[in-house]
Amino acid sequence: MNTLLLERIAAARSIALFGHVRPDGDCVGSTLALYNYIRSTAPEKRVSICLEQPMAKFAYLEGFQDIVTDPAQGIHAELAIALDVSDHGRLGDFAALFDAAKRSLNIDHHVTNPHFAMETICEPERSSTCELLYTLLPEQEISREIAACLYTGIITDTGVFKYSQTSAETMRIAGVLMETGIPFGDMIDVAYYRKTFVQNRILGRALTKAVSVLDGRLIYAVITLEDKAEYGASSMDLDGIAEQLRLTEGVECSVLCGETEPGEFKLSMRSYEKVNVSEIAACFGGGGHIRAAGCTVRMPAEEIMRAVTEKIRGQLLC
Ligand code: AMP
Ligand code: MN
Ligand code: MN
Repeated sequence: MNTLLLERIAAARSIALFGHVRPDGDCVGSTLALYNYIRSTAPEKRVSICLEQPMAKFAYLEGFQDIVTDPAQGIHAELAIALDVSDHGRLGDFAALFDAAKRSLNIDHHVTNPHFAMETICEPERSSTCELLYTLLPEQEISREIAACLYTGIITDTGVFKYSQTSAETMRIAGVLMETGIPFGDMIDVAYYRKTFVQNRILGRALTKAVSVLDGRLIYAVITLEDKAEYGASSMDLDGIAEQLRLTEGVECSVLCGETEPGEFKLSMRSYEKVNVSEIAACFGGGGHIRAAGCTVRMPAEEIMRAVTEKIRGQLLC
């Protein structure tokens, strides 16, 4: 067992936990799991979680109400731990607080991680940061509350145990977590499948706007600020659309290109078995995993999609 995390926690009196911008289930689950672990095993330590406001659907996780969403609140800690953060920029407005700590540690599973913290535990073969974090904590300390957090990250990052990084070890860990008595079926519905009315409608919009190119092997959709305004949707409401596009028959790669502010687009890319989308995201200053990656680009959408299509064509020809 890698004891670095436990050693760093033991040596610190105050600890701040950080995640990435637009926190997903793995980010919220891993930060809250570690928060609950420190609170239950070392109640004398000061521990805080600094995150952009996560989606309300994760409110069933213990400690959710304690999340500090305002960087100006100025949480200073001896030890800063970033979880599921693939690069420094992904710390967003909390970067300065992270940098101000005497020691920093990053626990992550992104293949593109450049080891920006003082110390890094990054295992790209892990399905999720939650799976990795499980291996860094003593099993006997995993309460039902901590298990719920870890299970949430595993199901959201594996698409409920189906993405390529899901391993026998992922399933074994999920099994141990289930044994704590968590309501796993409800959690899968709430954290992964359930959508709000607005989310279902903007998904419908993306599906009808979808464009099929490269003989049907690439499918993409552009959601503009006008689309979002018409449906009352936020950027977070676009979550899951790239994955739904990928499920189209014959598709190898899907891209959702969602406008975040005038002229700026967030790309979510998914692939099936051939295209390495983390490489394509990296060309545009982003990153992620081989089968799921993202980036933010300031260019007209048509130009972005022309460039991305060419890169995907190149990979498909190899
Ligand atoms: P998304 O499409 O936002 O669900 O992201 C897919 C994967 O790519 C996740 O693992 C993200 O952490 C990663 N990712 C998304 N956007 C970026 C970005 N701008 N820079 C680095 N990694 C990203
Ligand atoms: Mn994440
Ligand atoms: Mn993750």
